[in-house]
Amino acid sequence: MDKDTIKRDVVILGSGPAGLTAAIYAGRANLKPLLIDAPIDHIKQTTPGGQLMITTEVENYPGFASGIQGPELMEEFRKQAERFGAEFLEEWVTEIDLSERPFLLYTGKGIVSTQTLIIATGASAKWLGIPGEAKVPDGFGGHGVSACATCDGPLPTFRNRTLVVVGGGDTAMEEATFLTRYAAKVFVVHRRDKLRASKIMQDKAFKNEKIKFIWNTAVEEILGTPDTGVTGVRLRNLKTGVAETFSCEGVFIAIGHRPNTDLFRGQLDMDEVGYLKTSGHSTATNIPGVFACGDVQDSVYRQAITAAGTGCMAAIDAERFLDHLPVAMPSGEEVTIEGEHVTADHSAIITPDGHMLPNHTEVGVKGE
Ligand code: NAP
Repeated sequence: MDKDTIKRDVVILGSGPAGLTAAIYAGRANLKPLLIDAPIDHIKQTTPGGQLMITTEVENYPGFASGIQGPELMEEFRKQAERFGAEFLEEWVTEIDLSERPFLLYTGKGIVSTQTLIIATGASAKWLGIPGEAKVPDGFGGHGVSACATCDGPLPTFRNRTLVVVGGGDTAMEEATFLTRYAAKVFVVHRRDKLRASKIMQDKAFKNEKIKFIWNTAVEEILGTPDTGVTGVRLRNLKTGVAETFSCEGVFIAIGHRPNTDLFRGQLDMDEVGYLKTSGHSTATNIPGVFACGDVQDSVYRQAITAAGTGCMAAIDAERFLDHLPVAMPSGEEVTIEGEHVTADHSAIITPDGHMLPNHTEVGVKGE
C-alpha cells in the first residue's frame, strides 16, 4: 500500500446532515471518523454541507423554534462533529474499491483505507440550466427560485403569490399540491400534454382549484430584479413556437433528483434511478461494512431531519459491525465482520469457512 495511505476504521463520504450526524455519533463512540467531502466547485456545482447550503431559512428542523438559516445549521452540525474528534478531508474521491476490506478510496493525492464506509453523498435536484435559475447573485436561486417546496413553500416570499412549478412527475404534483396551502395560485408548466405522475397524484392535482396547467410549454428564462426577486418567466409553447412573458413571483423546479452514486456503480446495488439499496432494517448495503444514509438512499422523504436520523443509524451500524456484532443486510441475512452469516429465516448460522450450524438456543427452565 502507498506510503500516503490514511488508515481508518470509519470513513464518511459527504457532509450534509446525514454525513455530519454519522460523524457526531462515530466521533462520540471514539471511532475517530474521517469525513471526506468534495471541495467547492462552481462548475460541478458541489458545495460542502449539501443541499441546505443553498437553502435560506429552515423552519422545520426540530429544536429551532424561530427557524435557522441552512448554512448556519450546517455550521453547527460541523462544529459538533469536530468537538467529538471528527476529522475532515476536502478531496475528490475519483475511484473506490469495495471488493475487499479494508475498502480503498483513491483521491488525487493518495489513498484512504477503511474498515467501514458510510456513504452520505446525497442527491442533487435537477435544474433546467436556464438564465435566472442560478443562486443569487448570478440568478434568483434562494430569492424566489427553489427546488424544494417543503423547505421553502411556507416562507413569506411565496405566501399568497402566483407560483410556477416546472415538471410533470410525482414530485411536481406533490410540490404543486403542497404549495396551494400558501400560494394564491399555482401554475404547473409541463413540456408535454401528458403527465408522467401516478394517476392518484394527477387526480389530486386536477381536483385542486388553485392548480392550473400550462401544457406543451418550456420555461426558457426566469425574470426579475435583485430588489423584487422573481417577477415572471419567459415561456415558449413547444407546439406553436410562440413565446410569452408570464407574471409570477416564485418558481419551483420539480423535474426530479439525481442521487450522487456514479462512484459506486457496479459495486453497490441500486434501483433503476441510481438510489442505493439499503436493508430497511439497517443502513447496510449489499457489501458488509458499507452503509448508506440520507438522500443517497431515500427518494421518498428527502428531509434534513430524516437524513440526520439515518446518519445516526449508519454510525451505530458501523460501530456494531466493528464490535463484531451482526448487522441486518438487505437480503434479510445478518452478517458479522468475520463473515459469519445468520440466514434470512434465522434458522442457521453459516461460518466464514462455509459450515452451516443450527441457530437455536436451548432455553432451560429456571432452576433446572
Ligand atoms: P420523474 O418521474 O423523472 O419526472 C420528472 C418530470 O420532469 C417529467 O414529467 C419530465 O418530463 C420533467 N422533466 C425532466 N427534465 C425536464 C427538463 N429538462 N425540462 C422540462 N421538464 C423536464 O421525477 P420525479 O417526479 O421526481 O419522480 C421520481 C421518482 O420518485 C418517481 O418514481 C416517483 O414516482 C417518485 N416520487 C414519488 C412520490 C410520492 O409517491 N409521494 C413523490 C415524489 C416522487 P417528461 O414527462 O416529458 O419526461
